[in-house]
Amino acid sequence: MRSVLVAIVFVVLATESFAGERRVRAVVTAYCPCRKCCGKYADGKTATGRSAYLPGCAVDPKRVRYGSTIRIPPVNGFPAFSVVADDTGSAMRRSKRIHIDLRFKTHAEALRFGRNNVWVRISTR
Ligand SMILES: [Zn+2]
Repeated sequence: MRSVLVAIVFVVLATESFAGERRVRAVVTAYCPCRKCCGKYADGKTATGRSAYLPGCAVDPKRVRYGSTIRIPPVNGFPAFSVVADDTGSAMRRSKRIHIDLRFKTHAEALRFGRNNVWVRISTR
């Protein structure tokens, strides 16, 4: 009985992770392409090879597939907007909860965004 239940839960989770749209309560933080934010990875490219100077966000690709669109609600005076998952980081992969790290052009903007717990919508094709 228990293994059947585990199997069902697994199928539901797998389906949610890899198709359609889901709403999750996530930790949402921000970074920029600078050395302070990216350290040795500050090479102007994201993990998927896109320009780090374009909008995007870092995720744990095992839980949020690269290419997914993430809808962020209004936070700290920033209007709602959507970004594509195109990068990763150790904090995202270690996080217990889904952690989205938004990429801004400047360090000041990233600091102003801060750390937030919000509902986000993740759409995966
Ligand atoms: Zn920075």
